[in-house]
Amino acid sequence: MNNDVLALKYRPRFFKDVMGQDIAVETLQNSLELNKIHNAYLFSGTRGMGKTTMARLFAKSLLCKEGVNREPCGKCSTCLEIDSASHLDLIEIDAASRTKVEDTRNLMDNVQYLPTSSRYKIYLIDEVHMLSTKSFNALLKTIEEPPEHVKFLLATTDPEKLPETVLSRCLHFKLKSATTETLEIYLKKILDKENIQYDESSLHLITKHSGGSIRDSLSIAEQCISYCSGKITEEKISILLGDISVDKLERVVSYLMKNQATEIVNYVDKFEDNVNYENIFDNLIHIFYKMITKKFISNDYELDSNEEKNIHLFYQILVNSKKELANITDKKSYLIMILLRMITFSDQINPEPDDSSKKKNNIVKNKNDDIPKKSKENALKKQTKNLDIIIDKDICKKIFKELNLTGLQLHLAENSLLVIQNDEQKLLIDEKKKDIYPPSCIADFVKHISNHLNSEINPVISYEREIETISSLEQQKIQSNKDSQYDSIKDKPEIKKIREMFDAQIDKDQIKQLKK
Ligand SMILES: [Zn+2]
Repeated sequence: MNNDVLALKYRPRFFKDVMGQDIAVETLQNSLELNKIHNAYLFSGTRGMGKTTMARLFAKSLLCKEGVNREPCGKCSTCLEIDSASHLDLIEIDAASRTKVEDTRNLMDNVQYLPTSSRYKIYLIDEVHMLSTKSFNALLKTIEEPPEHVKFLLATTDPEKLPETVLSRCLHFKLKSATTETLEIYLKKILDKENIQYDESSLHLITKHSGGSIRDSLSIAEQCISYCSGKITEEKISILLGDISVDKLERVVSYLMKNQATEIVNYVDKFEDNVNYENIFDNLIHIFYKMITKKFISNDYELDSNEEKNIHLFYQILVNSKKELANITDKKSYLIMILLRMITFSDQINPEPDDSSKKKNNIVKNKNDDIPKKSKENALKKQTKNLDIIIDKDICKKIFKELNLTGLQLHLAENSLLVIQNDEQKLLIDEKKKDIYPPSCIADFVKHISNHLNSEINPVISYEREIETISSLEQQKIQSNKDSQYDSIKDKPEIKKIREMFDAQIDKDQIKQLKK
């Protein structure tokens, strides 16, 4: 099935039809208008960005029989021949199939001959990074001092592979990916012209799958048109594109936020095997991103501190585990495992009251316990210089807060405790979180502390229960808040009345402060 019919039909024939490349278009049009034409132009960008389209438009404007203008006339024989790729003075070369130096030399030998019918002879070399070093050298000589009548238009997906000598002789245009909004507006226009019916959400799905490429968005739209035979709907094309709807993923997220592991396993297990799991990871990451940012832009949306921490953690776990996805055969099981891991390592949003966590924790005895805080800090500063540091749990918490960490490292700081005394260096990590921090994360964390202290430390890593960490202290604070809130309302007459009327209990964890 040919999916390029739309892409070919709607390929821009004028600069004004080019979408989302305003800067490149404006610059090219200005140089045409002022007739300041360079010897060589380079167009770079990922596939489907319109590199060769842009180069052909520029060539058309340079060769148009009506003269060099901001736009080609589009009607003369030259314009029409370039549209049908048959003009003799626009020589298109696919470097991927002509990498040898002999090919380039033959080409350069012909450079000296005058154009057949136009003012310039233009070489459009696509995928130019594929040329061999020798070919580049052969090309370079000509680009440096080409005859008056010769111009070079180079296109590449990988400009970094071009020799500096070639790059420095080209006017370089880096074409941008089109934004989702641009693509949606564009698709709408095309589908309306083609009299195709669609629902709005299907457009969003198509653009999401096209990776910012106008050409790909048209190819996908074309597949959808033939698949849906009639109206394009999100429901139908999500099957075609192997997509799981945002609604379904939001349901997964709500299970996650409520620690409902069984529901997650049952629900995700019903996903089709052919769905695009990379997209699922991307979408989940995006949902968590939205949840955090919404807090800052919306007044009537609140997250408690535990929820917020969990979202940061979920985001980080998804970003990290997505990197492994390509190596996994059974992607559905992998997704389920990752979701369960997220639950295992999240702080319990509704923690069970736990007596042991309420106990004041003192497993780290410190010889400085009786020294006032201020003098302890002074002692720290002094001793850091002499590489003889004493760090107890209070100083540790202060240092960890000063590190200004983010993501997984912040999580580690909140769930660990550094103790340094009497030649002993220990990084105690909450045993329940043992599997969450990869060795590289711990190593980076230690490096951060060393930098902060101006002194290299090399602590023994030890996983222990009931450590007094920033996180456990906050947990205790939340619990005691809940206790005191419970105490303050349980005997109120109106509450008593409701309890008696409905024979009800107060759920301590559901008590929430009204927004001020
Ligand atoms: Zn023309």
